Amino acid sequence: MVSDAEPVDHQIAVVGAGPAGLTAALLLRSQGFDVTLVGPRPAGDPRTTALLTGSVNVLAAAGAWSRAEDHAAPMRTMRIVDATDRLVRSPEAAFQAGEIGLEAFGFNIENDALNRALIETAEAADLPWIEAPVESAETAGGRIVMSAGGKRVSALLAVAADGARSFMREAVGIGTRSWTYPQQALVTIFGHTLSHNDTSTEFHTRSGPFTVVPLQGRRSSLVWVVHPDEAPWLERMTDGELAREIEIRTHRLLGRVTVEATRGLLPLSGMVARKLADERVALVGEAAHRFPPIGAQGLNLGFRDIAGLAEVLVQARDRGADPGSDATLSAYARRRRADVESRTLAVDLLNRSLLSDFVPVSAARGIGLFAATAIGPLRRFVMREGLAPAIGAPRLVRGLPL
Ligand SMILES: Cc1cc2nc3c(=O)[nH]c(=O)nc-3n(C[C@H](O)[C@H](O)[C@H](O)COP(=O)(O)OP(=O)(O)OC[C@H]3O[C@@H](n4cnc5c(N)ncnc54)[C@H](O)[C@@H]3O)c2cc1C
Repeated sequence: MVSDAEPVDHQIAVVGAGPAGLTAALLLRSQGFDVTLVGPRPAGDPRTTALLTGSVNVLAAAGAWSRAEDHAAPMRTMRIVDATDRLVRSPEAAFQAGEIGLEAFGFNIENDALNRALIETAEAADLPWIEAPVESAETAGGRIVMSAGGKRVSALLAVAADGARSFMREAVGIGTRSWTYPQQALVTIFGHTLSHNDTSTEFHTRSGPFTVVPLQGRRSSLVWVVHPDEAPWLERMTDGELAREIEIRTHRLLGRVTVEATRGLLPLSGMVARKLADERVALVGEAAHRFPPIGAQGLNLGFRDIAGLAEVLVQARDRGADPGSDATLSAYARRRRADVESRTLAVDLLNRSLLSDFVPVSAARGIGLFAATAIGPLRRFVMREGLAPAIGAPRLVRGLPL
């Protein structure tokens, strides 16, 4: 329903009310910008997210961490186990948060619980919110005008947080580079009789990673990446059969398993936008990039986009500059490009190395993990890089004020 009513003016419209959009809107509002959120309430989401420390800092700055914290479980140890059965295997690598002076690497939370905490924060802050999808968007007279749910909104800047199939990205003609993997991910939540000891374990198998991440209590989330040929077998399994399979694959480290939640089976793909901003639109989260669920990178990278954007916008405001001008958008794209490109490449290379039967690739992975496990300073560097790139990370990610 496109309306011809007079548009309501705001400085910034955040489009998309998933975790990235809700966080962006709250954070920018907390920095004193006049913000409206546009997008339907998030639907049920079977995923869980391992939030690294930098993301917790961003959620705290947005005012939402105190509500999310009660539903999140700390990850104090991260273990990587090579279960590929290949000729050249990587030794097991276990990283302790204490080794780099942290209490925990991060916190695992169900996406539904995270979204609930963000929505409660938005309601407590009286964040203006049009709960409908954007149906049209066009730039005119130094503003971007959008229609949604029979209303019109005009802004100097639109922050596109409307997911991998971003309407806003397409509306301003930003293309993407996309690729697919011969993989699907089974996601579920399960209870277990033994404690997980706050340990997240990633078993690297021939078809992809089998990752178990602690939730609160004796519960964990599973992301099991499989070849599409295995998908029908997984779909047919009863909950009891799936539970037994998890017990075997986790080497019974967690005792007896009971599958709790509905399962999701998701095809895996990668995508990166050819530009991070254009025509008064800045892309954040999955509107800008998407890659397979390895090493807890997706939403964490999205939170770094949001923190980087907030930093650039505050600097622009201090100079009296327009938040949606070409100069401000170029500054945002420069600020984020290296992090987005390097994370996309790193996750893609790791994923492809897991898929490859070519010995030198396995050997390189083996030697790489071995070096990282054995050598102290290198190991600490790998751990820090996995959390967030320390060099040049946005101030809010590092826990510093803007
Ligand atoms: C199996 C799996 C496990 C994962 N685990 C992790 C992890 O441990 N750590 C991590 O960091 N990341 C993880 N990720 C990635 C993470 O889940 C995503 O990066 C994140 O959920 C994306 O959030 P988003 O807000 O950018 O997009 P979305 O969650 O897709 O939200 C987009 C929102 O935009 C809305 N929208 C769409 N079109 C419009 C429109 N026209 N107008 C307005 N609104 C619109 C949608 O309704 C939706 O609410 C995982 C992903 C998968 C698949």
